[in-house]
Amino acid sequence: MVAGGGIGGLCAALVLKNQGFDVSVFEKTETYKPFGGPIQIASNALESLLRIDAGVYKQIMSQATVIGDRKNGLKDGLSSEWFATFDLYSPAKARNQDVSVVIDRPKLQDILLSAIGDCVQTGAEVVGYEPSAANGRVIGILSDGTRHEADMLVGADGIWSKVRAVLDPNPKDPVWSGYTCFAAIANCVPDDIKEVGYKVYLGSRKYFVSVDVGGGRVQWYAFLNVPPKSLSLAPGDQLRWLKETQFNDWSPEVHQLLDSTPIEEVEQRDLYDRIPELRWASGRVCLLGDAAHPMMPNLGQGGGMAIEDALVLGQELRRIGTPEAVPLALTKYNNNRVVRAAAVQGMSRLSSAILFQYNHPTVVDSVWPPRIRNVGPRSLITRACQGFLERVAFPLQFEFLFSFPGKILDPQVFAPATSGDFAAPDAVKKDRAGPSTRGVAERTLAQTSFKDWLATYW
Ligand SMILES: Cc1cc2nc3c(=O)[nH]c(=O)nc-3n(C[C@H](O)[C@H](O)[C@H](O)COP(=O)(O)OP(=O)(O)OC[C@H]3O[C@@H](n4cnc5c(N)ncnc54)[C@H](O)[C@@H]3O)c2cc1C
Repeated sequence: MVAGGGIGGLCAALVLKNQGFDVSVFEKTETYKPFGGPIQIASNALESLLRIDAGVYKQIMSQATVIGDRKNGLKDGLSSEWFATFDLYSPAKARNQDVSVVIDRPKLQDILLSAIGDCVQTGAEVVGYEPSAANGRVIGILSDGTRHEADMLVGADGIWSKVRAVLDPNPKDPVWSGYTCFAAIANCVPDDIKEVGYKVYLGSRKYFVSVDVGGGRVQWYAFLNVPPKSLSLAPGDQLRWLKETQFNDWSPEVHQLLDSTPIEEVEQRDLYDRIPELRWASGRVCLLGDAAHPMMPNLGQGGGMAIEDALVLGQELRRIGTPEAVPLALTKYNNNRVVRAAAVQGMSRLSSAILFQYNHPTVVDSVWPPRIRNVGPRSLITRACQGFLERVAFPLQFEFLFSFPGKILDPQVFAPATSGDFAAPDAVKKDRAGPSTRGVAERTLAQTSFKDWLATYW
């Protein structure tokens, strides 16, 4: 039984169905209405999808827009000058993975829904669970009082998870991230569209993200340091408010997007996450995706982590012989995933905190006569961090992110290989570098003396 039919719940259902389990998904909403339009599927998540189901992977690739082979990075919000770029291509290619893509969420959902068949019940909210007194199985309880008995319950019901509220003996609320987010799709084709995929325009305590999502559309997000529930803008006023009070003196590139956005497209949401929590499984119940590890969207990895969870969950369940061993498989799934997910949660928070501290960097226009722009302490610090971010922090970050799922596991242990397994035939075909293989960024760093390191990277 799966609570929640978002990306995490649908991927979990897919991996379990492919392994022959009888799966039911209970989704609260009557009809899907995803927040934030298209979603980036990064190389690690793409690779996980390939190992879960090669057919689904192919369909996703045929409907997605590739951005990982273009220039991506951070720009100054006022001047539009590049502040730091990051390379999504090399760490993916070094591992023989496809580069990051963007796909409309409804398209992704349709592909997943048609792959798992008729097992999703909509308008069905899971409000709790209890063990069955008769046989130790788990009983999921729905808001209309209906009870469903199952061998296991996967709580993939998002950040405000009701399954978590029962599983966690000391439940805590998610914490406000410091940001509210406006999101919409602009109908326009910027001049740099062929060369540039993903741009983050930076300002003090705010940033503006744009990404090409194909078909002459650009998805944008505006992140503002505004307390939760403090804005009461009428839907028609949001765009004007953003343009006139938040981004009035910002780059024409930002205004091009705001000006080409239909007023009714704009959505707003206060953003929350959680500090990493270690326990996602208890008996026959486990958490997955945002229910387990909600994170800031800065790295575009929240959905990716849910996909990775589904792969590992299937992997652990595949290794057990009997339904009695389900609790053991869920404990192993929990142990396998918790460190990586916590690291990505932390990195997402950290990158959001770094962006928060940004100030337009110090620029020396002329040494003599001296003409220096932006001379405050935060501008100087921002300038000092520029090289480190581009040459050290970003390369290491993507080496780490794309190191999953890593090497194919020993086919002796996991034979016979089936779809949904690390050792699935599609995965075996390619010779992939594993997590133990150090990437170019790590090797270069390890071989550089401190003196050269300072000269090169700072
Ligand atoms: C602005 C923004 C941009 C993002 N961009 C990216 C990106 O580019 N790439 C990326 O990988 N991630 C991105 N993310 C994160 C990503 O959207 C989430 O991490 C991902 O959707 C998590 O999937 P999930 O299935 O775990 O949870 P959800 O997507 O929240 O799905 C949970 C589902 O469960 C249902 N549900 C809730 N409660 C119950 C209940 N009690 N019973 C039954 N059903 C229930 C909900 O209706 C929903 O359908 C972004 C997030 C934001 C906010």
